[in-house]
Amino acid sequence: MSYRLETDCVQAGWSPKNGEPRVAPIVQSTTYAYESAKSVADLFDLKANGHMYSRISNPTCEVLENKIAALEGGVGALATSAGQTASTIAIANICTAGDHFIASKSLYGGTVALFTNTFKKLGISVTYVDFNAPLEELKKEVLPNTKAVFAETIANPALDILDFDKASSLAKSAEVPLIVDNTFATPYLCKPFEHGADIVIHSATKYLDGHAVAVGGLIVDKGTFNWSNGKFPEMTEPDPSYHGVVYTKDFGNLAYIIKARVQWIRDLGSYMSPMNAFLINLGMETLHLRMEKHCENALLLAKFLESHPKVSWVNYPGLESHKDHALLNKYCKGASGVLTFGVKGGEKEGEKVMNALKLAKILVHVADVRTCVLHPASMTHRQLSEEALKDAGVSPDLIRVSVGIENIEDLKEDFQNALSAI
Ligand SMILES: *Cc1c(COP(=O)(O)O)cnc(C)c1O
Repeated sequence: MSYRLETDCVQAGWSPKNGEPRVAPIVQSTTYAYESAKSVADLFDLKANGHMYSRISNPTCEVLENKIAALEGGVGALATSAGQTASTIAIANICTAGDHFIASKSLYGGTVALFTNTFKKLGISVTYVDFNAPLEELKKEVLPNTKAVFAETIANPALDILDFDKASSLAKSAEVPLIVDNTFATPYLCKPFEHGADIVIHSATKYLDGHAVAVGGLIVDKGTFNWSNGKFPEMTEPDPSYHGVVYTKDFGNLAYIIKARVQWIRDLGSYMSPMNAFLINLGMETLHLRMEKHCENALLLAKFLESHPKVSWVNYPGLESHKDHALLNKYCKGASGVLTFGVKGGEKEGEKVMNALKLAKILVHVADVRTCVLHPASMTHRQLSEEALKDAGVSPDLIRVSVGIENIEDLKEDFQNALSAI
């Protein structure tokens, strides 16, 4: 039985049987007991389903995995210790030393650091592209060893909207999966699988949790990509670490997500903790309500700032003046809760405004119920070169606002008072 999105936010992933707890419990256990040695051996050989050890799977995390799979419309999901782990494994699961992938140039700063520096050490190279370029130009970046295309639905913090048709055409022509970071949109605002994506990842730390209480990541597999096209031998050839399991043959359309779990999560030990899965699942029960309010408040605050004489520019895709407003309307139900702006007088004056805000605290976070601000150039994107900052859409004066779900009049007053300080 399939339900509508709001119902899945509340109930998907956990359906208690007779006498079981109504709320999915926190299974705070590293281990699971068995009646025979053979049943453990079968688990180790991947011949049976079941939990074996909480580094690889756990019943509370499984509830969250099933919920996000239902919301995104995928066949399976994997919970990770952070969004960064989700990005790492999403790529590493199909790229090995000597491989290459293509990524959008407007990405989260932590993702750029991972792709540019850490993957380089592993022998995996990346080419950043501007998805505003014509498809024919983008196709020139495809190499014989290209294994994936990666982009964000709503880029953090550039707030560019992904041209899904173009990105998926590029991935299709290269016969590689399109991996989409759907953190800012969440499945409530956009379902990347309906627009050509093959794999979706999330920093669950953001809107899915929504209350700034737990760090976590998720990978979701649509289950329709053809891994047997000759480009992904690790999917189609025996895995010596599991007595010759062949992922595509033994697991069909779950090949990608099972391989990610039983190789990468097993080896790196970067699974989500059951406590965090419980908290994120609790947050997701109100995802649909919160996202409505985040979108509404952000649009109203963007309009307020746009008309303020001391503000030099506002960037919010929900504004009709935004360059990607048409793309937003095509792919997303709303522009989410993050906007950026600059004040007249630039970085120095902007800092004064940030310091004068009372409700909106300065913090290294986005996407929770409380409004907060951040100056990416000196904080989250500090490790990036000037060139990379420009590519990520971060100007020196940019202030990022994560608009919460407080009363909009109080938020407007907070910004009005702070802007009076300059
Ligand atoms: C925060 C963020 C990440 C990284 O997630 P963590 O949970 O902090 O590791 C990845 N992508 C986007 C778009 C993010 O905002």
